[in-house]
Amino acid sequence: MRLQNKVTLITGAASGIGKSSALLFAQEGAFVIVNDLDAVKGEETVAEIQASGGKALFLQADVTNPDSVKAMVESAIAQCGRIDVLFNNAGISGVGALHELEPEQWDRVMSVNIRGVFLPSKYVIPHMMAQRSGSIINMSSCIAEIGLARRASYAATKGAVLALTKSMQVDYASYQIRVNALLPGTILTPFVENYLKTSYDDPEAAIASLKSRQLGNELGTPEDVAQAAVFLASDESKFMMGSPLYIDGGVVFG
Ligand code: NAD
Repeated sequence: MRLQNKVTLITGAASGIGKSSALLFAQEGAFVIVNDLDAVKGEETVAEIQASGGKALFLQADVTNPDSVKAMVESAIAQCGRIDVLFNNAGISGVGALHELEPEQWDRVMSVNIRGVFLPSKYVIPHMMAQRSGSIINMSSCIAEIGLARRASYAATKGAVLALTKSMQVDYASYQIRVNALLPGTILTPFVENYLKTSYDDPEAAIASLKSRQLGNELGTPEDVAQAAVFLASDESKFMMGSPLYIDGGVVFG
């Protein structure tokens, strides 16, 4: 097992990539702290892990709210004693060209996707500094590097997460804390299905168009990203520091 007894906090772990990662991390021996806004789906994720012999607990918190995140981290430390891996996965979509966006829409995407990386990191890092070890995985996206139509706010957040990852890595390298970023391409999750349904008259045609941008002509699965997250969490990636890891079917070359 590659993550034996590593205490791992995954934000937004009740759905999609976060949920797949929670299941895979537990299979690899981690104790998984499942965070989400959605308590019903979060508890379902924990029940699935426990049913297959894994170890997990659910902690509800809104990653944009400092009091909520601080209480979550304090509870995690009280129950588990340490946090070895923080996977800042929670995120929301933002659709529209810049001039179409209302300031409130812009602020909401910034808040979940950037503040939602800042706050869990802010409260977990002092514990990792005291331990002198830790792996932080930040969820960026290949959209940080390629232009996609009508995704201005979302792209801005994922570019910021990539820059933040490098900056964090420099600040915490001397504490043996590694900070790396995942850059998925299009992965079929509820997040993407919802985006397709609300943005296109013909979601099937939109999926075909997205597939045609991939070198392999297929979209990714949540498990594809979860495997990469396990690698970044594990000691197998010990020489990766501040790195962007692409899981995108070659879309950045398309
Ligand atoms: P998803 O919608 O299936 O899951 C996201 C989860 O985050 C949900 O369970 C949701 O309740 C939770 N969440 C949202 N706001 C939250 C908050 N304020 N506090 C706590 N939890 C919150 O999405 P997904 O497709 O699995 O995406 C996960 C991450 O991967 C996101 O950061 C997304 O931007 C990123 N990503 C996704 C894709 C893709 O194609 N699906 C591609 C690149 C990057």
